[in-house]
Amino acid sequence: MPQEHGYWDPAVERLDREELTRLQERRLRETVEACSRSPYYSSLFRREGIDPARFRGLEDLRRIPFLEKQDLRDNPPTYFLTLPLDDMIRVHSTSGTTGQAVVIFHTREDIEAWAELVARCMYMTGLRRSDVFQNMMGYGLFTGGLGFHYGAERIGALTIPAGAGNSRRQVQLMLEFGTTAVHVIPSYALYLTEVFKEMGVDPRRQTRLRIAYIGAEPHSEDLRRRIEEAYGVKAYNSYGLTEMSGPGVAFECPEQEGMHVWEDSFVAEIIDPSTLEPVPEGEEGELVLTCMHRRGMPLLRYRTRDLTRFLPGECPCGRGHRRIARIKGRTDDMFIIKGVNVFPMQVEQVLLRLLGVGSNYLIQLERDGVRDEMRVLVEVTGEIWQGDVRGLRSLQKRIQEELRSEILVTPQVELVEPGSLPQSEGKAVRVVDRRGD
Ligand code: ADP
Ligand code: ZN
Repeated sequence: MPQEHGYWDPAVERLDREELTRLQERRLRETVEACSRSPYYSSLFRREGIDPARFRGLEDLRRIPFLEKQDLRDNPPTYFLTLPLDDMIRVHSTSGTTGQAVVIFHTREDIEAWAELVARCMYMTGLRRSDVFQNMMGYGLFTGGLGFHYGAERIGALTIPAGAGNSRRQVQLMLEFGTTAVHVIPSYALYLTEVFKEMGVDPRRQTRLRIAYIGAEPHSEDLRRRIEEAYGVKAYNSYGLTEMSGPGVAFECPEQEGMHVWEDSFVAEIIDPSTLEPVPEGEEGELVLTCMHRRGMPLLRYRTRDLTRFLPGECPCGRGHRRIARIKGRTDDMFIIKGVNVFPMQVEQVLLRLLGVGSNYLIQLERDGVRDEMRVLVEVTGEIWQGDVRGLRSLQKRIQEELRSEILVTPQVELVEPGSLPQSEGKAVRVVDRRGD
């Protein structure tokens, strides 16, 4: 382990499997006990014949039914509260990427525990008091803003609450305050490289950037590499969701080989979304999370819809908390074209590997009579766009062939000018499905 990357909370980060399991058992019992004071769980426990006083721990957890996003949408959030509303000091909500937003309440202790988790993540990757941290995530109900903000302040770094968007201002802030670390949506980070170009600023030479935290949306290893290359930083994958407080659930350590799930605070399971049975060790499935760090609104066995797998083996960094692979996407992200299941991530992996591909792409699904068509719009680099037609043609052909061999469907590929596709300040929209129109 590199010397400079220390432990924020060595007592917890260095626990071995046996100690972690013991801690999980205890915190799980406390959580279930707390849950029994919420209207939702007290009636669920009664219905399922679960006696919180007799709840032992991990084995018994399997008897509690999964909680689905729909359950959170169908019930008022207050049904999940274990304490009076007056004890709550903060509310956040999901971005509503897949439908109606879900609301989560926090007590003061919950906010503290969450900030502590985020601080642990940031410290692990080398953030210190001497750093200048620019948070380029949306503030407000979205958890990416305040979640990281509290974490960075806890470490004592100078924190710039820049918020999302306003690209030129972001660059100016970096130059003015000597920003060393940023938190940014990966698709936006790539887009911002174009803004740097327009402004004639070289992010590698003219900024002090050394760390980027990237998360909130699925992204490929190639996208990470492009960010690292363009900015001259180490980019760390950050995973979280509002239902589990927000960022700080799983995070990459300096090894950058999978994300450690903080098992003192979460119980992670991976299930087959169709059978709801646990997948064999190491296989891909849907991540299910139970939070044990939140007292006001704890949730048990929440189905995240995010697809991942556990990585085998010990991490050389010395943390015993299990690691998950980068998220492939949500179960809802998958689309079916000509009978084939496709994830946007598979398309991204092909595109970003190729020289000449720029910083944005969009998948359009259309119905042409009775036939489904998949069209991939790809921004190319300025050099390719200004170059001769042959260069464009051969890139287009190459993309089409590589996509066909990856997804087994031949899409139409259209190369477009840099900066011409819609760019979101928040999570990127990768697929537009017009087949139902
Ligand atoms: P919404 O579910 O409405 O987007 P959130 O803002 O809470 O609400 O987003 C959480 C979701 O974002 C996760 O469930 C996951 O799908 C996605 N996400 C968060 N971090 C990552 C990451 N590092 N990699 C891939 N997907 C991520
Ligand atoms: Zn590690």
